[in-house]
Amino acid sequence: MSLLVVGSVAYDSVETGAGSRKDALGGSAAYSSVASSYFTRVGIVAVVGDDFRPEDLELIVSHGVDTAGLERRAGRTFRWSGVYGTEDVNTRRTLDTQLNVFADFNPVLSHRDRSQPYVFLANIDPELQISVLEQMEVRPKLVALDTMNFWIEGKGDALRRVIEQVDVLFVDEGEARELTGESNLVRAARSVMEMGPTAVVVKRGEHGALLLHGGSLFAAPALPLDTVVDPTGAGDSFAGGFMGYLAASGDLGHAAFRRAAAVGSVMGSFAVERFSLDGIAALTGGDIEERLRTLTDLTTLPPLGCGERLPMRNAP
Ligand code: AMP
Repeated sequence: MSLLVVGSVAYDSVETGAGSRKDALGGSAAYSSVASSYFTRVGIVAVVGDDFRPEDLELIVSHGVDTAGLERRAGRTFRWSGVYGTEDVNTRRTLDTQLNVFADFNPVLSHRDRSQPYVFLANIDPELQISVLEQMEVRPKLVALDTMNFWIEGKGDALRRVIEQVDVLFVDEGEARELTGESNLVRAARSVMEMGPTAVVVKRGEHGALLLHGGSLFAAPALPLDTVVDPTGAGDSFAGGFMGYLAASGDLGHAAFRRAAAVGSVMGSFAVERFSLDGIAALTGGDIEERLRTLTDLTTLPPLGCGERLPMRNAP
């Protein structure tokens, strides 16, 4: 195992323009661990209730995800419900969040977990994210963090404390603005970097993602899709692909970060095509590579050669 993921494993009830699902497998750790499992060995730290269905555990296990750190407790599994705009799928409203067994979850990392080189603190209570980091025996090579407005609003101080300690922060546009008070995205991303991280990924739904790393900006486009069924988990799948790729390549240079953002975008595109984890559960390496090629073809520009000029009227 090389990537440790802590986050939520959930039952989601969603309504989208394509239909609705009740109590479908979801959660930030479920999406991101399955997405990253195509690239690297991954283990999760999370908790589920005694209502967690065996087939949902089987789906996660069948991807080779180490579930030794997935605790099962008396009570109900975390529940989240949300509704998406029918005209604009980028708009989402949370209807309900029930922490249930997460309310008093206190993760205890195994000896092996404590020395994992890559750690993804997926969206969950920032106090739990801090507790996981405190238990690491060796400073991981790379720690990334994701969060959402629920925690920015409810546990802002703890969230700021954990942001100070991580290398990469994933946020969506609204969260970046809420966290920094900056309405301009580039300024918001820079302001996040002043809090501690050396890289920021601002997720912009169907408009792709903006990566700020090593002093330069990179825009990873989203693959234009003709059908978006359920945007839930797109961000987590993006982060899973991003972290899984970096953990597998072992390269933390700028070019690797750009490639990771493109791989993240590809994994997010699979996630939104179906409800729940269905879009990312049955992929092959070939499917992922083919989509990465499509994304690359879509965005490769013929460079303006050295000394080459554009045909312009009256150019000096
Ligand atoms: P995404 O669409 O990638 O932003 O993530 C959606 C997932 O986040 C859903 O599967 C939810 O179960 C999970 N989720 C929603 N709210 C929370 C929360 N407050 N803490 C942790 N996970 C959450």
